[in-house]
Amino acid sequence: MTEKNVVVIGAGVAGLTTALLLSRIPGYRIVVAAKHMPGDYDIEYASPWAGANYMPVSLRGTDAAEWDRKTWKAFNELALNFPESGIHFQDCEIRNRSKDVGSATADWFSELLSSSPWFKDVVPSFRTLSKEELQPGIDSAINFTSVCINTALYLPWLVSRCLENKVIFKRAILGHISEASSLNIHPSGHVDLVINCTGLMASKLGGVEDQTVVAARGQIVIVRNEVEKMVNLSGTDDGDEEACYIMARAAGGGTVIGGSYQKGNWESQPDPNLAVRIMKRAVQACPELTGGKGIEALDVIRHGVGLRPVREGGTRIEKEKVGDLWVVHNYGAGGAGYQSSYGCAEAAVRLVRAALEIQTKL
Ligand code: FAD
Repeated sequence: MTEKNVVVIGAGVAGLTTALLLSRIPGYRIVVAAKHMPGDYDIEYASPWAGANYMPVSLRGTDAAEWDRKTWKAFNELALNFPESGIHFQDCEIRNRSKDVGSATADWFSELLSSSPWFKDVVPSFRTLSKEELQPGIDSAINFTSVCINTALYLPWLVSRCLENKVIFKRAILGHISEASSLNIHPSGHVDLVINCTGLMASKLGGVEDQTVVAARGQIVIVRNEVEKMVNLSGTDDGDEEACYIMARAAGGGTVIGGSYQKGNWESQPDPNLAVRIMKRAVQACPELTGGKGIEALDVIRHGVGLRPVREGGTRIEKEKVGDLWVVHNYGAGGAGYQSSYGCAEAAVRLVRAALEIQTKL
């Protein structure tokens, strides 16, 4: 069988997971070409900034719910058997305040805030908290076993798994998607198919220029203080664009506290006032973070900002011909790029095989 030459544009969680799953199937020579690679921190590169946890916001019965369901299986396996991937299990508590009904976060979290979300039989130990267990000001809450991913370990781990399977990595900046086949990116000099995993920058890449992809700015603080469990709130008292969550990354990765969800905002520098509000809310929600001593006792590692690639209508997993070139898209996962990563990558790989007219059985 002649090998098919594939270029994956993008080395975020979408590009790396797609390259990894494709590389496990014989018959592909794969190059991952990207402006940013694991180890880089840049406002155009969302993946290093994510928490990241598994907290499905996808609605029951949708493709997105199916992608999330499949991804839990993969993360569960990694957390159980591959500690070097930087993923560990952590208890996750979602706290609901009735006063947040109708707010942007509560709408975004609608499945999470339902008493019977679709994923209650997917994640282990799902339960509704009793009234006696609720913090003051909280009207209801659920608890389940989730995972927290140390992105600084997990992204390089994905690269290593790809390298084992002979995937080639190259730095490249593409102005147009067709350059994937014309810039001498693939060593064969001929490209059969391109997989577009450019995240937010799909809004600017020539041949794609998807104007329905917008930035949702997330500001975070990473601290050395530790917490036992993740906590997420349905809203804050500081406006619709702000959020409150806390999670501890695996293997000494620190505790990530957030956050914000500022649509259309591309500001790369942390806002110091917002940082103070983030820290105050986190300490109020989890006083054990500082042993009741307030935000002065937070030991800050760094402040950060990332942009979630939010797409109207959800993640684009589609194939199309751009000129003579087959393109499979996998971008626009918004705030769910990790928790949907394996499901999306599997769907993209299926389209690659369909486009190249190979019978598929994943
Ligand atoms: P990116 O990581 O942005 O990667 C895009 C890649 O494409 C990069 O390598 C870039 O260099 C390359 N590229 C783009 N354009 C070009 C070009 N023209 N030429 C060459 N290369 C190009 N998700 C979760 O599942 N759970 C969470 O808890 C979570 N928390 C988050 C918290 C914050 C603060 C933020 C910001 C995001 C969070 N997310 C979370 C969302 C998640 O980070 C994103 O959905 C995911 O990282 C998107 O990955 P991606 O690979 O599509 O894009």
